[in-house]
Amino acid sequence: MSARAIRRNPAGYSTRPGYVNPRGQVVIRNTGLRGTDRGQTVYQLGCSVCGHVYGSNGSDIFERRCPMHDHGRPGMPYEEGILAADAEYVR
Ligand SMILES: [Zn+2]
Repeated sequence: MSARAIRRNPAGYSTRPGYVNPRGQVVIRNTGLRGTDRGQTVYQLGCSVCGHVYGSNGSDIFERRCPMHDHGRPGMPYEEGILAADAEYVR
């Protein structure tokens, strides 16, 4: 992605699949599940350091830390009816 695209859409670029935040957390997909923040959906993220996969509110992606190795908040469920091993929220 070009820097120009980021400037043009500053609110949305961090939720696109393939986006990597400063903590090495990679956006995999929008799950379409309702998140816990107002108006948010849950995104499936993967950690590029340890490989952990978990769910996160879209609004948290930019500053998300890995819950497995970087002291991040526990992940959210990212599939209907399936809870992440470290999920703190139950739908
Ligand atoms: Zn990790």
